Amino acid sequence: MTTIITSTTRLLAVLGDPVSHSLSPHFQNAAIQAAGLDGVYLAIRCTATDFPGLMRGIANAGGGGNVTIPHKGLAANTVDRGTEAVVRTGACNTFWLEDGLVCGDNTDVDGFSRALRALLGESPAGARVLLLGAGGVASAALYSLLMERAGEVVIANRSIGRAEELCARMTSPHTSVRAVPPTELSGEHFDVAINATSLGLRDSDPLPLSPEAGVSIGAALDLVYAPGRTPWIRQQIARGTPAADGLEMLLYQGAAAFERWWQVPAPIDAMRAALPPR
Ligand code: NDP
Repeated sequence: MTTIITSTTRLLAVLGDPVSHSLSPHFQNAAIQAAGLDGVYLAIRCTATDFPGLMRGIANAGGGGNVTIPHKGLAANTVDRGTEAVVRTGACNTFWLEDGLVCGDNTDVDGFSRALRALLGESPAGARVLLLGAGGVASAALYSLLMERAGEVVIANRSIGRAEELCARMTSPHTSVRAVPPTELSGEHFDVAINATSLGLRDSDPLPLSPEAGVSIGAALDLVYAPGRTPWIRQQIARGTPAADGLEMLLYQGAAAFERWWQVPAPIDAMRAALPPR
C-alpha cells in the first residue's frame, strides 16, 4: 500500500543531529501503513537553536514526533507538560499535542521495560542487576528498574563520579542502588547485566563487560544495536546466555510513542518486519 499525502496528512518527525542513521522512519511509516492511518514520518536534522521552535510548531500543527541525540534534555525543558518519566530522567524522546499543550514522554523507559521483560520472561522485580554506564539511556533504564522494583542495581561506569551522581539523583525505598568502579566487580553474580554505554557501536570497541572482569550473569541486555548484533551479545549467545541487543528496546520505545500519537495499539509485527534482518 502506498501512502497518499493530502492536506489532512499528519506530520510526525524525529528531530536530532545526526538523524540520517535513524531506523524510526522505516518502522513508523510501516506502522502507519499497517494501521491504515493518515500520517507520514520524516527525519529532520536540526540545531539546538532551531529545535524548540520546530518541535512546538510541529506539535501545534497537530503532529508529533521523536527526539534523539543531542536534544532529549532540551526537549524536556521545552514541553509544556512532561510525564513523570520526563521529570525524573530529565529527558524527553516523544512529543505530541494534547489539551492545547505540547506534551512529552520518555518512551525509552517503556521501551527498556518491555525489552527487559521480553528477555527475562518476567518482571525484574527483586532481581540483582548490573547497569554498565551512567549517561542518558542508563538514566532511563534505572528509572524503569526502580518502577519495576528490582532488588538491587549496581551501576558501573568509567567515570565513577557520574555513576555516583546518578545514584544520588534517583532513589527508591524498594531498590538498593550503588555505584562501583568497573574494576571492582570480580566474583559478583547478577541476574542480568545491561550495557548502557556506547561500547559496541563499532566491532573494534572493547567489550562493555569482558570475561576478565570475573562477573557471572544470568542474562545480557545490550542497549546498543549494530548490524549482525553487537560483539558482546554475539559472545553471550555463543555461551548459551539469554541475550538481546538494543533493537528490541528501539522497537518497543517506538511502539510506545506510536500509541501516544495515535491512541491505538501499535502494529508490532509490521514494525518488527521493517527492521533490518538479524
Ligand atoms: P551518553 O553519551 O549519555 O552516555 C555514554 C555512556 O557510555 C557513558 O556512561 C560513558 O561513560 C560510556 N562510555 C563511552 N565511551 C566509553 C568507553 N570508551 N569506555 C567505557 N565507557 C564508555 O549516551 P546515551 O546514554 O544517550 O547512549 C548510550 C548508547 O545507548 C548509545 O550509543 C546508543 O547506541 C544506545 N541507545 C540505545 C537506545 C535504544 O533504543 N536501543 C536508545 C538510546 C541510546 P563516561 O560517563 O565515563 O563518559
